[in-house]
Amino acid sequence: MDAVQVQAALTALGQPKFRWDQVRQAVFGQAVSSYDEITVLPAETRRALAEKFPLLSVRERRVDVSGDGRAHKALLDLADGRIVETVLLRPSPTRWTTCISSQVGCAVACTFCATGLMGLTRSLTPEEITDQVLFWRQYMMKKALPGRLDNVVYMGMGEPFACYDQVSTSLKILIDQKQFGIGARHISVSTSGVAPKIALFGRDFPQVNLAISLHAGTDELRTRLVPMNKAFNLAALAQALRDYIQSANRKIFFEYVLLKGENDRPEDADALVRWLDGVGPKELLHVNLIVFNQTNTPHQPTDENDARVFQQRMLAGGYKSTVRQNLGRDIDGACGQLVVLEKDQ
Ligand code: SAH
Ligand code: SF4
Repeated sequence: MDAVQVQAALTALGQPKFRWDQVRQAVFGQAVSSYDEITVLPAETRRALAEKFPLLSVRERRVDVSGDGRAHKALLDLADGRIVETVLLRPSPTRWTTCISSQVGCAVACTFCATGLMGLTRSLTPEEITDQVLFWRQYMMKKALPGRLDNVVYMGMGEPFACYDQVSTSLKILIDQKQFGIGARHISVSTSGVAPKIALFGRDFPQVNLAISLHAGTDELRTRLVPMNKAFNLAALAQALRDYIQSANRKIFFEYVLLKGENDRPEDADALVRWLDGVGPKELLHVNLIVFNQTNTPHQPTDENDARVFQQRMLAGGYKSTVRQNLGRDIDGACGQLVVLEKDQ
């Protein structure tokens, strides 16, 4: 829903100001699935709104649910026929998180990522970004799933800082008490390292969490895995993060996908520690070691033992580090597996 457009439409229809309050309470508070359910609105107003401003700019094409019911992946149709994916996860019994996309495909082309293989089609509009959250709220209501959806991570398809303006507008909408009302501290944005936008983000959104997809502690290795490292190398990234810490003074999460024989050796861990030492205070830097989810790429997951050794090296270097297993593997809904295949179209 585009709140600005709907408010303008209500005014054009000659409706008093309190009508918008009724609409937003129904849409964001009760997660109604159609204007028809907002029975406090006059019938002709409901009809006029439904005709011009559909509640959702995305339409469900398919939803897959993981065997344990803790991961739901949706393929959504956009108005121009493109398709985007979004995931609903239940990390704990009553808390839900959604992983949303910012673009159809991605231009960064990390070698291990299924989205990267697609290339970039286009960025999403702020409405298409936030409507993924609205879609899941409506879905939870219809399926009577207990608990609250109050965490959002920008870790789906696309590079959020390649479309900073749209992402920035979408964040404001999610945080707005009069719309989604999601706490800034419950939102995380993940970037592969668009350095100039990182510093800006720290100033614009000092309370939103930042995750950096790092994957390597040397330029030589990182450029191979994350080609954008040529444009913003590790020195530029470190400088941007120092600026970020200056304005946000917030913990930064680093994501590091462990790839067998490529970036998982003890010397790779040591290079990572050395680079982190130049970024900021250890207590503000947290390393998430991610188990590689199989994609149609030549990479292999690290052996468990190598992952443990790597983690030990991080801890010895003074950095908190966790190994993350992802939910949703059986439905290709885990990190890096989001891709629109030809069979889906
Ligand atoms: N483009 C942004 C947002 C996507 S987040 C970014 O890269 O940060 C998706 C996360 O999943 C990133 O940390 C990415 O590095 C990681 N990822 C990509 N492919 C993966 C794979 N096959 N297995 C595990 N994690 C993967
Ligand atoms: Fe794009 Fe992120 Fe995938 Fe890299 S990991 S290709 S930046 S979506």
